[in-house]
Amino acid sequence: MSDQSDSESRKLLGRLRDAMASDIAGQARLDRITQLIAGSMGTEVCSIYLFRDPETLELCATQGLNKEAVHQTRMRLGEGLVGRVARRGQVVNTADAPSSKGFRYMPETGEEIYSSFLGVPIQRLGEKLGVLVVQSKQAREYSEDEVYALEVVAMVLAEMTELGAFTGEGAALSARHQQSVMVRGTTGQEGAAEGHVWLHEPRVVVTNPIADDPHRERERLHQAVEELRVGVDKMLAASAGGDKEHLQVLEAYRMFANSKGWMRRMEEDIARGLSAEAAVEKEQSTARARMEQVQDAYLRERLSDLDDLSNRMLRILTGQGAETGAEMPDDPILIARNIGPAELLEYGRKLKGIVLEDGSVGSHAAIVARALAIPLVVHAGRITTEALNGDHIMVDGDQGLVHLRPDDTVVSAFREKIAMQAQAQERYASIKDKPAETLCGKVINLHMNAGLMADLPSLEGSGAEGVGLFRTELQFLVRNQMPKRTELVEIYARVMDAAKGKRVVFRTLDIGSDKVLPYMKPNDEPNPALGWRAIRVGLDKPGVMRMQLQALLRAAGGRPLTIMFPFVAQFDEYTQARAEVDKAIAREEKLGHVLPEKIEIGAMLETPSLAFSPPKFFREVDFLSIGGNDLKQFFFAADRENERVRRRYDTLNVSFLTFIERIVERCAETDTPLSFCGEDAGRPIEALCLAAIGLRTLSMRPASIGPVKSLLRRSNLDEVRKIISDARHRGDQSVRPAVMEWLRQQG
Ligand code: PEP
Ligand code: MG
Repeated sequence: MSDQSDSESRKLLGRLRDAMASDIAGQARLDRITQLIAGSMGTEVCSIYLFRDPETLELCATQGLNKEAVHQTRMRLGEGLVGRVARRGQVVNTADAPSSKGFRYMPETGEEIYSSFLGVPIQRLGEKLGVLVVQSKQAREYSEDEVYALEVVAMVLAEMTELGAFTGEGAALSARHQQSVMVRGTTGQEGAAEGHVWLHEPRVVVTNPIADDPHRERERLHQAVEELRVGVDKMLAASAGGDKEHLQVLEAYRMFANSKGWMRRMEEDIARGLSAEAAVEKEQSTARARMEQVQDAYLRERLSDLDDLSNRMLRILTGQGAETGAEMPDDPILIARNIGPAELLEYGRKLKGIVLEDGSVGSHAAIVARALAIPLVVHAGRITTEALNGDHIMVDGDQGLVHLRPDDTVVSAFREKIAMQAQAQERYASIKDKPAETLCGKVINLHMNAGLMADLPSLEGSGAEGVGLFRTELQFLVRNQMPKRTELVEIYARVMDAAKGKRVVFRTLDIGSDKVLPYMKPNDEPNPALGWRAIRVGLDKPGVMRMQLQALLRAAGGRPLTIMFPFVAQFDEYTQARAEVDKAIAREEKLGHVLPEKIEIGAMLETPSLAFSPPKFFREVDFLSIGGNDLKQFFFAADRENERVRRRYDTLNVSFLTFIERIVERCAETDTPLSFCGEDAGRPIEALCLAAIGLRTLSMRPASIGPVKSLLRRSNLDEVRKIISDARHRGDQSVRPAVMEWLRQQG
């Protein structure tokens, strides 16, 4: 690259900046820019295409093509050479455009007379904004220098677009980030919410992409790299060098800060007239576009490290950190690419909704969102690039939909939905203190599932009679290190305090399978759901289980205590676990601690094998609880975490109901108290059928108690029982259609 082309490039950028600063309207500004670029590059044509919507490009300004075509010529993503540049986010440079693959003739533009074509993407951090094109009559390929110069200009255009330079009065293009957008994701937690966007990581805005003094910018760049290094060192010192995530940042930093390629490219960008931050962003955009193309997992990871590093550099250079001065709205809907459980807990209940671009249904963040009963949508593609702080937003957790800057019709339809939900909530509130008594006089005990302190206020609000399942592993999952026994004592005591004498069933640690503790060495197992998990870990490596049992006994401080062991598959696992409790009791007694006035020790029935264990097992356990989530996955051999199969089999499948009914009968024979605590207990129709086949205690998410109770109070279980038995005799696969029909008849 020559000094001459550098100074030519700086001159052009200087003129672009003048065009920006002048107070001409958006369209005139675009026209002026195409003129300047064509003049500076010595090409007959310069055109700017911008996205009208995510699939359509529109010719928005041109020097050289037919002016009438402006705002008329449109093409779909991938269509023609322009569409190809946009789709791949890569340069197309050809001496003979008309015979290039994908060329599309647009008669209205008069472009067939131009032979050579150079198109570069206008993109900002992986967000496609448009395409910048130059064309000439002379058949020639543009030089590397020219390509580079055009890329730098495209970068500046991207920033200008982001800043809204081409919108407003006189512009035919409505501003990005003003149009309404609907994003389809996946349900993480049901419920509807309306509010305003609060970005977990605010977008960094580069307001000065062009700089006059390359020496100064180079210096700023080097200073920022140095600051980054100091920051990484500090971070490492603070985490005593052990934190995996911090080590990854360090490694990425070492790799890229020492990488001549990355620094050299940014220095070249600066020599061409970009500011230091614009140079960082330009390379970051290129890396993001590459990330979309590469399949190789290792390479993708490195590109994502570079992305993270670039973000840190941008924050240093622009001074825009976590503190952007923006104020959190009163009704915040949190938007993030991903978020850790601890960070989410910090926001707490003030959030009205949560939308994650990545995330997953089983993620820890989702567990926390559920505990807080905040509507959550995960896998909401592009939401972090589409949303701006303060945008009006509606989250439909039931459908997994997000309406960003919704138009009036969406707003009124959505508000109606919220109003209906509020009405239903009122109905549920009015029966909160009434029993779940059916029309035939059967009383069903409704308890709630919990696992975090954040769950506990629901105990009062939901009308639950107690906590039927306290998943103790959640306390372990949301931390970065193993909790100490004293901490556990404190937590469990607070749980019992909050329960105010209501029964809490503490389930001992259920880790393994989908629940992996971040601070424990992961076990590579061919099939984790069938692997070393729950009670199997507890019995093989009893250290943690013993600590937990001791903490529970101490936390009870003389109050009644209920303990449940997860995933018991055969009789002797329960016997051994119970022996551990006896040992812990003896130890506590010896140490002079007060013992619980009553201890109940139960087991979860989550594997079909346990349903067929000998009667003495049923007599020995103090109670059983069906873990329907696991039991169902093993009954149908369908992984509950696998999206392809998890919804394939109906809980109301007659075989499954018959199996559960058999468990109910066996418990009745031995007078063993039985409950059901899987997710299905919280689905009204499923709950109704479970009650009809004899279950008298159901434990569910707090938010489900109202709807379940409401349906139970309006139903006659004898009738439902008859429907199930008729379906069985007819040989139906599932009783759902018959039950639904009956419900319809009931109105
Ligand atoms: C179950 O398996 O139904 C259950 C309640 O336990 P978890 O969902 O925690 O595995
Ligand atoms: Mg389970």
